Order: sequence, then structure tokens, then C-alpha cells
Amino acid sequence: SDLVDLTPDRVHELDRKHVFHSWSAQGALNPMVITKAEGSYIWDQDGQRLLDFTSQLVFTNLGHQHPRIVSAIQEQAAYLCTVAPQHANAARSEAARLISTHTPGDLDKVFFTNGGADANEHAIRMARLHTGRIKVLSTYRSYHGGTHLAVNVTGDPRRWASDHGAAGTVHFFGPFLYRSQFHATTEAEECERALQHLANIIAMEGPQTIAAIMLEAIPGTAGIMVPPPGYLSGVRALCDQHGIVLIADEVMSGFGRSGRWFASELDGLVPDLLTFAKGVNSGYVPLGGVAISAEIAATFDERVYPGGLTYSGHPLACAAAVATIRTMEDDRVVEHAAALGDEVFAPGLAELARKHEWVGEVRGTGAFWAIELVKDKATREPLAPYGGTSPAVNSVVAECKKRGMLPFVNFNRVHLVPPLTTSALEVTEAIEILDEALTAAAG
Ligand code: PLP
Repeated sequence: SDLVDLTPDRVHELDRKHVFHSWSAQGALNPMVITKAEGSYIWDQDGQRLLDFTSQLVFTNLGHQHPRIVSAIQEQAAYLCTVAPQHANAARSEAARLISTHTPGDLDKVFFTNGGADANEHAIRMARLHTGRIKVLSTYRSYHGGTHLAVNVTGDPRRWASDHGAAGTVHFFGPFLYRSQFHATTEAEECERALQHLANIIAMEGPQTIAAIMLEAIPGTAGIMVPPPGYLSGVRALCDQHGIVLIADEVMSGFGRSGRWFASELDGLVPDLLTFAKGVNSGYVPLGGVAISAEIAATFDERVYPGGLTYSGHPLACAAAVATIRTMEDDRVVEHAAALGDEVFAPGLAELARKHEWVGEVRGTGAFWAIELVKDKATREPLAPYGGTSPAVNSVVAECKKRGMLPFVNFNRVHLVPPLTTSALEVTEAIEILDEALTAAAG
């Protein structure tokens, strides 16, 4: 190969010289060089093996180098690497069929994109054209992607720098009992008040001006807040009442992450549009998309849909999706993720919460877990500020890595989001490492 002579040191040197990284000040970067990956593990430049409890950016749902996905990509590459989006091909047709068999309700048509942000951009465009309205409501504490409109509907600090020309984007609070905006003390109260808050926002914005409500079925990067029972169905009812399109962003929560094929299933939610990416093909080749209801699809039967991408439904990406979804079905991967959540994560992390002063709350489902680190359990003051970092959180992460486990970190939270194929033993080991890391960092 053209790459065999590149030592890890040379890779690092070239990276620092020529690669411009996402969401970062470039000067102080010191990226880990990944030299090998297999299953739930990665290896760094020093040959240290780490349990990958990030799934990279929460996308390697079937782990690294899964042989069935690797073969599917190799076979597709040997047979037909690429075609233009206007032509049909086996990989794209079959991927769309398989995705449709798992999406809720009548979301049976798929518009393929390159990733999650553009899926959300297109979902909003479809909603606007379908309703003839402009506004989009979305939650604070959300992430919808890095392109202009997607970052404007995002509700985290990454939006601030681009918060101009965001015509018609409005934010509201979703339910989050641990940091309730509504002075609620129970999940039922939080649910009811969050729905009332949304109803008020709709009334104040003018229901006839609102094209869509976009929300993550379970907010991911923003903190894995599993919505209380009744919330998603309550949002559905508000949308029905006012003719608003409901867009479920399942880019992170979809394809088994929550222990269900889609997190919308939590509350029997059938959105009008569902966006996906990441887990659809374990992120082996960039792919995202919008699953479209029969009613919205019909809007574009006669009318031209004004949008497209050169690589919409790329055969290599779609072949990887077919292999991923087939493997998930054959190996009962979603059921395994659900069991990991119920039997290993839930009890193991509850124990950490009892034991450590810094663990304010643990929450999650399936292979989708957040640990809320606080200075003080009573005040719930975060161990790092909103939008920031702190030496204490950095030291928890460093102690985890030292012991062979890579967690996902956002502000004051550590997320454990391993491949869905991770074994119960590996999860137990990761929780033990976090336990020791918390002790060492607090020490
Ligand atoms: N939506 C959600 C919920 C996400 O988590 C992400 C990425 O993390 C995106 C959208 C954006 O996806 P992409 O980075 O593929 O554009």
C-alpha cells in the first residue's frame, strides 16, 4: 500500500502540519494516532490497547473491523464502486428497503445523504415545502449537525458562533428532571410541565408559522436524557393539533443504540420524518438519510423536490448499511444492547453513583449512558461549566485512559457508549475502570 511506510510519529507530524481539525483551536492539538482497531478495542501510537467506549463519535455500533461489513464493502468495491444518484443500483435499493422495515409507521421512503447534518437540513426543507411555513422549533441541549441550518437548530454552545441568518429557528426546553427548568420533582411533573412549556411556545410563536418541531428522540451529546413516558407522544399530539411536521433526529439514538431499533419506539412515536446516520452502517462509509412518511412523500409525487447530493445513496455506503442491518437482525444485536443496559450498565453505574461524591446522576438505556459529574451532590454544581472543561473532568478521563478505557466526554459528563456488540464482561471491566479512575482523580 501507499501508506505502509508511515510510522505513527510521521502520521502525527503530518497531521499537525496539514490537517485542520473540527471544533478545535488548532495550535494545542495532540491527536491520538490510532494504529489498529478490532471489535470493542483500539490501539494507540504506543501500542496501548483501549476499550473504545466512545464508538468513536458514537457510530461504530457493530464495533471495529466487523468482518461482514468489511467484506460487503470489499465486494461492492470490486463489483461497482459508484454510480450517480439518478441511477438505481442493488445496494441502494436494498438498503432503503431494509431501513424501511425497521423505521416506525409508514416511513417507507428514504432520501440518502452523506451524514446527519445534511439529513436534518433536508428534513427541514421537506417540512417547509410540505407545510408552506418557515419556523423550526428545536430544544436547548441538542445537537443536530455542523452545517449552517443544522447548527442553528442545534441547542448547544457550538451554535453561538454561527447564530446569524438563522431565520425562523426557535428553541425550547425539553424534559430533564435532574436540571429541571420547571421546578419539577417527579418525572410525571417534568413531562407535563415540559409539554405545557412547548404548548406555550407554539402559541406565542403562532402555530400557523411553524413548519416543524425537530428533536432528538433521546438527546445524545447533550446528555442522554431519556424522555419521561408520555413526552414524545405529547409532542406528537401538539404537532397533530397544529399541522406541524414532527422530525425525530435519530442520528445518534437510532439503529439499536438505545436498546431499540429507534428510540422513538420508547413512546410509540411515529414521527413524520426520521433522520439517521452513524449506526446505519456503523460509520464505515459516510451515510445518512431521511425516512419519509407516505403523506410527505406524496407531496413530492408531482412536485419537484428541490434538493440533491452527488453521493446520495453511495453504493459502498449502502452495501455497508445492508451488511450492518442484516448482522443486527441475524445476531440479535438490538436485544443484546437492551440486555447490556438493563443487566450490566444500570446496576453497575447505580453502584458508582452510591459510591462517589462526584457522581450526581447516572442515566441511560441500552448502550447509551451518561454520568453527570458534580462538585457536590446537594447543589448539583457541574464539575465543569456548561460549554467548558475543567482539570477535574480531564483528570477522570486521563485516569480512565491510563487504565485502558476511552470514554466520551462532554462538558461535565462522561458518556459510556460502546459498540452494541460489546460483551457484558467488557462493560463490567469499563465500569470498574471508571470506578478506579474516579477514586484516583478525586484523591
Ligand atoms: N444529529 C445528532 C443527534 C448527532 O449526534 C449528530 C452528530 O453527532 C448529527 C446530527 C450530525 O451528524 P453528522 O456529523 O454526520 O453531520
